[in-house]
Amino acid sequence: MVTDRREFLKSTMAGALAATAAAGVTRAHAQGAQQASPKGTKIKPGPRDVLLVVDVQNDFIPGGALAVKEGDAIVPLVNQLAAGFEHVILTQDWHTPGHISFASSHPGKKPFETTQLAYGTQVLWPDHCVQGTPGADLHKDLKIPHGELIIRKGYRKQMDSYSAFFEADGKTTTGLSGYVKDRGFRQVYLVGLATDFCVCWSALDARKVGLGASVIEDACRGIDTNGSLGKAWEQMTKVGVKRIRSTDIAV
Ligand SMILES: [Zn+2]
Repeated sequence: MVTDRREFLKSTMAGALAATAAAGVTRAHAQGAQQASPKGTKIKPGPRDVLLVVDVQNDFIPGGALAVKEGDAIVPLVNQLAAGFEHVILTQDWHTPGHISFASSHPGKKPFETTQLAYGTQVLWPDHCVQGTPGADLHKDLKIPHGELIIRKGYRKQMDSYSAFFEADGKTTTGLSGYVKDRGFRQVYLVGLATDFCVCWSALDARKVGLGASVIEDACRGIDTNGSLGKAWEQMTKVGVKRIRSTDIAV
């Protein structure tokens, strides 16, 4: 399934990303948005930095409908990191019943098969993160009372959304880029589930809209099938997404 998802990413986004990558990197460099911290110096989150907590929801943790291995193991670290950020945004996968990304909406199809939709190849998933159900709830141990925004995605019945910024057609905005710009944030730090899918797509899109982006590796978990995790890092590195660890952050 992961190969399929990656192929979808490559086929639908590679062109756009390739076109914007060079410009994005140059722009970010010019703005100082991708400042590397001097060796041994920890990153101290400031007023223009925001932590993006991606899809830490019951259906993506062990026992959920679309579980990521060890997905629950990141929760204490995510809480600890969040406490060190003045600004935190969370995302929630938030599908209608009968959503087009569900295999159950396509007679004769099984989960992890694909189908062709107007916006490209869609991987079909088990029903997950249905609006208002316990599976769509944020993990109960997530303690981020100061979170400023929960952005919901994938709520259009006819379109999926892995990224926090753009839905699966690559152009329908979730509104997050406008929010982030209005708030004056320049650098996004990403944690959550899964590294090689929603975190990756969100990080790539953060770069696409001119933000600096760093993925805090040990506060994410990936699915990693058929080399998907390596491919995701390759894609992210190519557009200037930084790969860091929680110990790089002073919290
Ligand atoms: Zn989904």
